[in-house]
Amino acid sequence: MPSIDDFAREKLAGLDARGLKRALVPARRMDGIRLARGGRALLSFSCNDYLNLSQDPRVRGAAKAAIDAHGAGACASRLVTGDHPLLGALEDGLAAFKGAQAACVFGSGFLANAGVVPALMGKADLILLDELAHASIWSGARLSGALVLNFRHNDTDDLAALLRARRAAHARCLIASEGVFSMDGDLAPVDELAGLSRAHDAWLMIDDAHGLGVINGGRGARAKGAVPLQIGTLSKALGSYGGYLCASAPVIDLIKTRARTLIYSTGLPPASAAAALAALEILTSDSALVEKPLANARLFTRLMGLPEAASAIVPVIIGDERRAMALSAALEEDGFLVGAIRPPTVPAGTSRLRVTFCAAHEEDDIRRLAGALQRRLQALAA
Ligand SMILES: *Cc1c(COP(=O)(O)O)cnc(C)c1O
Repeated sequence: MPSIDDFAREKLAGLDARGLKRALVPARRMDGIRLARGGRALLSFSCNDYLNLSQDPRVRGAAKAAIDAHGAGACASRLVTGDHPLLGALEDGLAAFKGAQAACVFGSGFLANAGVVPALMGKADLILLDELAHASIWSGARLSGALVLNFRHNDTDDLAALLRARRAAHARCLIASEGVFSMDGDLAPVDELAGLSRAHDAWLMIDDAHGLGVINGGRGARAKGAVPLQIGTLSKALGSYGGYLCASAPVIDLIKTRARTLIYSTGLPPASAAAALAALEILTSDSALVEKPLANARLFTRLMGLPEAASAIVPVIIGDERRAMALSAALEEDGFLVGAIRPPTVPAGTSRLRVTFCAAHEEDDIRRLAGALQRRLQALAA
């Protein structure tokens, strides 16, 4: 056996040789869309803070007031003494907003997925995941011990075939997908997924991390029939930190009794809960704000001649890892922060720039980015 340090060095060298080593770069936020990174000021097209509420004075003020009233941390698991009153208020607000009976707030969206799926599914069960479903849904599915199969991205025929072939051999069945796909920006066919789940006696879970605050007037993903398990995060359009499940009252009661990531983890800090609650109030009342991220993304796709954006996320597929990294570095020289996304976050050969749009971007910002990207793409092709 190699020493643990040699193991780490060799593993990193291998990843580096394939252009897959990752590095953290400190970034100091200047406002909703500008940050200082590597000694320069950059206009960010990489943030998930779609409504820029993380910087809103009302949201910041609510977080500060919550610290003064309740302290910096929750001090214990919610099931011990960490269930401060802001969590109940936030859950009521989320449930009302999502049209569900009840809600449960978690320490993060990752923890919500990692806790909810294993609380509902076990060894005798079947989980069918969209192949592009977020890593946290995969993690929850694996932890459950159920058989996990994936269906081709947004392909309801493939899902229907899997259900016909495999459903009958299992006790319970869960279908899981994302409302807005985090690296592709496209939408799941939620109505069809809901129809298939009813037809084949399966439960449907939709993770709407990137839909809330952006699509359907800010309400996020919805179906004609109800979606029984609505997962989301407080960390994107709500500008705070934390995750949630909205569902029926009995399901939420079961989750609060059984989800290990809730029971064995400290409650969400008061400041995060208060910030999310203040952000939810703004999101609910300011329809002009909520329209902006999608309108901005659509201006960009028009300027670039790309298919019309369906969400605030626009992928520009490059293919090769190193070319995607080089393009991102070139745009940084031009003053824009646009993240390059590589495997294993996306399938091999589909490395891309992931461009995200916020409410605070102005038309001129978007025209300048499109111009710079077109010049850099031409230089790369030459
Ligand atoms: C970001 C994201 C998560 C994780 O949420 P956090 O609150 O950041 O942990 C889960 N699911 C999807 C689809 C996401 O995009």
